[in-house]
Amino acid sequence: MSLLFSLEYAPVELGGEGKEIPTSLPCPDCQTKPVGRLRKHANYLRGFTLAVGGGRIKVKITRLRCSKCKVTHGCLFECLVPHSRYGAEALGRLATQYLFEDKSYEEIGWEKSAEEGEGHRHLIYSLVERLCRKEDLISAQAEKQVLKRGESLWRRKEPEPEEPCKNAGKARSEKKAAAMNRVKVAVKKFKEGTGQALETVVGSLHQISMQLSAPFSLFSAAKVSVVRTTHKRGEALF
Ligand SMILES: [Zn+2]
Repeated sequence: MSLLFSLEYAPVELGGEGKEIPTSLPCPDCQTKPVGRLRKHANYLRGFTLAVGGGRIKVKITRLRCSKCKVTHGCLFECLVPHSRYGAEALGRLATQYLFEDKSYEEIGWEKSAEEGEGHRHLIYSLVERLCRKEDLISAQAEKQVLKRGESLWRRKEPEPEEPCKNAGKARSEKKAAAMNRVKVAVKKFKEGTGQALETVVGSLHQISMQLSAPFSLFSAAKVSVVRTTHKRGEALF
């Protein structure tokens, strides 16, 4: 299972502070107590595409290994996606284009290249599929943002009818088409609730999914284990 660290431990290339990843943390995989401790196992460079149209950058990834069960864990950050070479924001932007614009899979994404393979058809298909499966979660997060803004439920004005998702008509089933429409409405609502730019909303939803009580990646469905280090975010240093 990937371990999720807060951004302060991320390399500067990812917008972090490059703090040393702590060792001797308890292992999340050990079945019997006392659980093993995590020690540094390896560092390696991995290429990531973080922005649509941006190049690939190399980022140092640390792996920790349990002293007892010997399982190794990659150290990740919210802006990355487990088992993916793409950053959360880049994937979010791709999915948003498919949900909001009248573009086919082939028309979205990066230029095709030998390195990238055959475009992004499968990538975008699987992203949209994942979002549709987690439509409940996305809608709930959107509602939460609207409430946070202090809008009273009973005084809320009738919502204007939403335009359906431009690509919903291509879905193979009515169920999928309906889910795409609901995801689109929820993404728009989340955008309005948070005041974020539309292109960054799906990436933000991914970051939220990585911080839930049972954290997982909205884009890859992989479960992650959030590491709570003693240094809390926003804690005053003096
Ligand atoms: Zn272990």
